[in-house]
Amino acid sequence: MTEPRRATVLGATGSIGRSTLDILRRAEPRPRVAALTGMGNVAGLAAAAREFRAELAVTADPARYLELKAALAGTGTEVAAGPEAVVEAARRPADWTMAAIVGAAGLAPTLAAAEQGGVIALANKECLVSAGELFLAEIARAGATLLPVDSEHNAIFQALDRDNRAALDRILLTASGGPFRAWSRERMARATPEEAVAHPNWDMGAKISIDSATMFNKALEMIEAKHLFDVRPEQVEVVVHPQSVVHSMVGYADGSVIAQMGTPDMRHAIGFAWNWPARRALPVERLDFARLARLDFEAPDEGRFPALRLAREVMAAGGLAGAAFNGAKEAALEAFMARRIGFLDMAAAVEATLARLAPFAPAERLADVFALDAEARATAEALIASGEVGKGAVLA
Ligand code: NAD
Ligand code: MG
Repeated sequence: MTEPRRATVLGATGSIGRSTLDILRRAEPRPRVAALTGMGNVAGLAAAAREFRAELAVTADPARYLELKAALAGTGTEVAAGPEAVVEAARRPADWTMAAIVGAAGLAPTLAAAEQGGVIALANKECLVSAGELFLAEIARAGATLLPVDSEHNAIFQALDRDNRAALDRILLTASGGPFRAWSRERMARATPEEAVAHPNWDMGAKISIDSATMFNKALEMIEAKHLFDVRPEQVEVVVHPQSVVHSMVGYADGSVIAQMGTPDMRHAIGFAWNWPARRALPVERLDFARLARLDFEAPDEGRFPALRLAREVMAAGGLAGAAFNGAKEAALEAFMARRIGFLDMAAAVEATLARLAPFAPAERLADVFALDAEARATAEALIASGEVGKGAVLA
C-alpha cells in the first residue's frame, strides 16, 4: 500500500476546485488534504474542509475570517484569512497542488506552491500569461513538475511526441467559439453579462465564461501555449471547433496531426494530472462517435474577436506585455460585469491600454510583473472612467 499523497487545492470552491475535489474524493488511497482555499463562498469552503478533514482552510477575504472560524469550530481544521494567508497555505508541504484561483490573484500563491518542488496542476493560465519566463524559471529552480490542466494544453501535453521534439511544427488550439460564435458585431455590441456567461459546452466560472465569449480566453491560451511548449508565436494556431470534443492538436513536420479527444468535462484533465504518469479510470462520459456523427471546424473571425489579434501582438512584444494584457483584460471584464462598458469595449480597453503602456521592458523580477499588472488595471480603469472607452455600455 502506497502512502497517501498530500494534496492542496487553491481555489477549492470554484468550478475547477469542485471538480478537483470530486477526483480526490474517489482517489485510492484517499489523499490527505493539507490546505483548501476559497474566497466568498465560506459555507462551501467549510463543507469541503469538513469532508476532507483539511488541515487548513483559508478564505482570501479577511472580512470572512470569523464566519469561517465559526463554520469549522470543533473540527480541528486550522482557519486563516487574507491574501497573505492564501500564500502561506500554498507553502504548506504538499505533493500535489491544484492551482485554480481565477486571475492574476493566483500568481503569488501558485509560485509559493511551486517553491516546494512537488506537482503543480496548473489551471490558472494567468500565471503564465503575466509572468511567463519568470514563472517557468521558478518551477525549474525548485524542481517542481508543471502539469497543464487547461483542457487545450493538457491535450497538447498528451499529444506531444517527446522523442521528436524538433519535428513539432505547430500547435492547434481548438476553441468552441463561445456563445456568440455566430453573432454579428452589431448584436455582440448589445450583449449583456448574462448572455456572455452562458457557455454552450463547458460549465465554468463566470469570468472565464465571459472570456470565452470575447475569445480572450483563447488569447490567454495562445500566450500560455507559447510559454508552456516553448514555440514561436507563429506556431500557435487557433481553430474554431464548436463541439469541443477535439481538445487540441499537435502538427508535425511530416504533416501528421495528433489530436486528443474526450467529452467536454474538466475532470479529464484534472484526473490526468492527478494520476500522471499513470492513466486510471475517471468518472467521465465516454465518447460515442456514432452519436457525435460529425465534427466541425472553421477559421476564427479576428474582426469580431480582436482578442486573438491582440494576443499575437503580445506574443511578438514579449516581456511585460503579457502582464499588461492580462491586467487590462481583468479590469475591463470587471467593468463589463458591472455594466459600465459594453461587450466590445472590453477589447477596445485592452488595446488602448497596451498602446498607452508600450513599449514593454523584459520582465526581470516578479515585482515588475505585479507593478505592470497594477499599472495596466489603473490605465484601463482611467480610460473607462473618462469615457474614452465604453461608449457602448448596455444599461440594464
Ligand atoms: P471560479 O470563478 O469558478 O473559481 C475561482 C476560485 O478562485 C474560487 O475558489 C474563488 O474563491 C477563488 N478566488 C477568486 N478570487 C480570488 C482572490 N482574489 N484570491 C484568492 N482566491 C480567489 O473559476 P474557475 O472556472 O474554476 O477557473 C479557475 C482557473 O482555472 C482560472 O484561471 C481559469 O482560467 C482556469 N480554467 C478554468 C476552466 C473551467 O472549466 N472552469 C478551464 C480551464 C482553465
Ligand atoms: Mg481552456
